[in-house]
Amino acid sequence: MDTALLTAALAKRKLPAFRERQILHAARREFAASWDEVTTLPKALRVELAEEVPFSTVTVEHEERSKDGSIKLRLATHDGFPLEAVLMRFDQPHARGTDKKLSRYTACLSSQSGCALACTFCATGSMGLGRNLTEFEILDQFLELAQRRIGTGDGRIDNVVMMGMGEPFHNYDNVMAAIKNLNSPDGPGLAARRIAISTVGWVPGIEKLADEPIQVKLALSLHAPNDQVRGSIMPVNRKFPLDRVLKACRTYRTKTGRRIFIEYLMLEGVNDQPEHAKELAHLLGPDNGFHVNLIAYNPTGTDYIGSSDEVVRHFAAILERKGVSASYRISRARDISGACGQLAAPVAAAKRKAREAKIARMAERDAEAKATGHAERLETPTEGERFEADLEARAAEAASV
Ligand code: SF4
Repeated sequence: MDTALLTAALAKRKLPAFRERQILHAARREFAASWDEVTTLPKALRVELAEEVPFSTVTVEHEERSKDGSIKLRLATHDGFPLEAVLMRFDQPHARGTDKKLSRYTACLSSQSGCALACTFCATGSMGLGRNLTEFEILDQFLELAQRRIGTGDGRIDNVVMMGMGEPFHNYDNVMAAIKNLNSPDGPGLAARRIAISTVGWVPGIEKLADEPIQVKLALSLHAPNDQVRGSIMPVNRKFPLDRVLKACRTYRTKTGRRIFIEYLMLEGVNDQPEHAKELAHLLGPDNGFHVNLIAYNPTGTDYIGSSDEVVRHFAAILERKGVSASYRISRARDISGACGQLAAPVAAAKRKAREAKIARMAERDAEAKATGHAERLETPTEGERFEADLEARAAEAASV
């Protein structure tokens, strides 16, 4: 729910401040799914507010359940931009003295519709960027997942990772505002250390996060032990090569004292050889506050192949021998394309929306040019036109793989 809209609607009716607290409590702590469920409000007021303030800033278009107990939501913003959110279930060993399995739930949220960074192994990267999500569109993904009340039935979610669509540090302010809401005792009250931001190495974001008072975790999608391999799979490496990224990480570590999680996707024949493991160990250094998560590659319609379990285990053993802690992360929701790198609402939808955005911008520009008598501005390519040309090129590239 967009609280700016809510505050304005309540102020217009001269309602006391406790009404806003009641509404936000119902939405963010009790995980009400609609105005009908905010039963602390008189019915007539609920009906009035429903006309003016959408209960959620995102709409669920499709819901899929995985065999492993995870769920994926395909959502849209109110102006039609697609995004996805996943709730992953991880089963723990049985609780002592019981035969009950313990399950933990992690919400994977998107920070953008699409992404501009075009990592070659990632389905989202093939979409191009739609737009940044607002703080409420990020928070509402979490609330939509909590409303499903899977597991214990109370909507409990244990962890949040900003690892869905998009590069979170391209949308820094909205991501941080959403995290503060998740962390707030007036919201879901999730401990900051249970929230992780994953970046491909956007240095200004890492530097800024180092100075934040909130104790969120940082994960770095590294995926390669040297610039040559990294540059071949992640175009962002041209802007921020490894030495700059790791320098920023070390400063972050010095300032915060917190461990950094290194995400490393295992791609057969690309980055998974013993010499890559040795190079990675050398790059990170022993006992330096890095923990490497080796990740199974999930099919995303490219011609990459995931490394075998044996290769991954051998890679992890080399890291451990050299003093770098490592673990092998098991993918969740792979059967519903909800695993790492697989999040991509249809490219066609993004293209359609880009076209609509372009038309709207052109109309705006033309109206402005006519009004000011600057007719020559009608010939100038707009940001929307450049964006669409870029998106078309990416879509064609993705289709040709
Ligand atoms: S891996 Fe992340 S940064 Fe790279 S294209 Fe996908 S969403 Fe964007």
